[in-house]
Amino acid sequence: TMDFTARLERVEPSATLAISNLASELEADGVDVVDLSVGEPDFPTPENIVEAGKDALDAGHTGYPPSNGIPKLKEAIADKLDADGLDYSTDEVIVTPGAKQALYETFQALVEDGDEVVLLDPAWVSYEAMAKMAGGDLSRVDLSGSSFQLEPALEDLAATVSDETELLVINSPSNPSGAVFSDAALEGVRDLAVDHDITVISDEIYDAITYDTEQTSLGSLEGMADRTVTINGFSKAYSMTGWRLGYLAAPEPLVEQAGKLHSHSVSSAANFVQHAGVEALRNTDDAVDEMRDAFEARRDMLIDLFADHGKEVPFPDGAFYMMLPVDDDDQAWCEGALEDAHVATVPGSAFGTPGYARLSYAASEERLKTGVERLVDAGYL
Ligand code: PLP
Repeated sequence: TMDFTARLERVEPSATLAISNLASELEADGVDVVDLSVGEPDFPTPENIVEAGKDALDAGHTGYPPSNGIPKLKEAIADKLDADGLDYSTDEVIVTPGAKQALYETFQALVEDGDEVVLLDPAWVSYEAMAKMAGGDLSRVDLSGSSFQLEPALEDLAATVSDETELLVINSPSNPSGAVFSDAALEGVRDLAVDHDITVISDEIYDAITYDTEQTSLGSLEGMADRTVTINGFSKAYSMTGWRLGYLAAPEPLVEQAGKLHSHSVSSAANFVQHAGVEALRNTDDAVDEMRDAFEARRDMLIDLFADHGKEVPFPDGAFYMMLPVDDDDQAWCEGALEDAHVATVPGSAFGTPGYARLSYAASEERLKTGVERLVDAGYL
């Protein structure tokens, strides 16, 4: 018989699996499910990016590229980061097949058996899995008591971190809450990171999707450049989930270590996809703005619809998710909402905060309205 590794045995299968299996079963039976559980924009990839990908194929960009990325893309990434107030050279960037791989390489480079990794709940599901695969021990700070904002919870964070903390993960705008952390919150993170010599991952994959306030990049704060790993990608801003393209930017010693895992595992992100990524970063502002405006209108509509039914949602200022307060047994609520109202959502407990359901509004206004109506009719709102 096969003998499996402890590092994978300790990782749980995805808690969202039960819901998505149930949704697939219903759909196979011909049921029309309003799917508000998805983590990807419902728009096609902008045409200019698709054309750039095709042109790159026609031009023969089909061989192995340099492991850490083609120079033109690394330059476009460095310029994007420069516009965010971050000073990275092209030698401080690794282009990866998706931000997920960039995160995985970072955890593997920094976390040893027994190292403390601090997460802010609700936290995107893969951080925990990646920390565990690297052997890390998790400490968690709950933001549900502060409407998912970090600033009022800085004291809790201060009480959690110590000189023993190796890594802290910040994700703003947040999946799943949609919260955008204030500058004061990020300055609080900076002070703690400097005091305790902590490396911070700043996952900024939703930075293009903010509504009322701009997202400040953590690494741009004084004292953070040499202790921040900035993660970003093309999936959300440019609706490129299936292209698999992302990156990390970090001080060169980390790039050197992570680059070994990168070159000995995935080798590189796909060559022609990287050429499309250059087009995305250089020439796609209008399409990004249009998608963001559509998300904003949907957010406003949903917030109003829920308010009409006496539900106050902690205000989401970015990304395309919100956390709807539901019963304490959020798993049962989500299963019931799917079975009875045919609306798919993700239980908050999957992200470490029971009592909520995560809704994605990467769906048309009409579908969102239908979803809310069905929840009301079935007695879930
Ligand atoms: N980080 C967060 C917070 C996410 O929500 C996602 C995708 O759902 C990712 C990273 C990974 O995105 P990708 O690997 O598609 O770039």
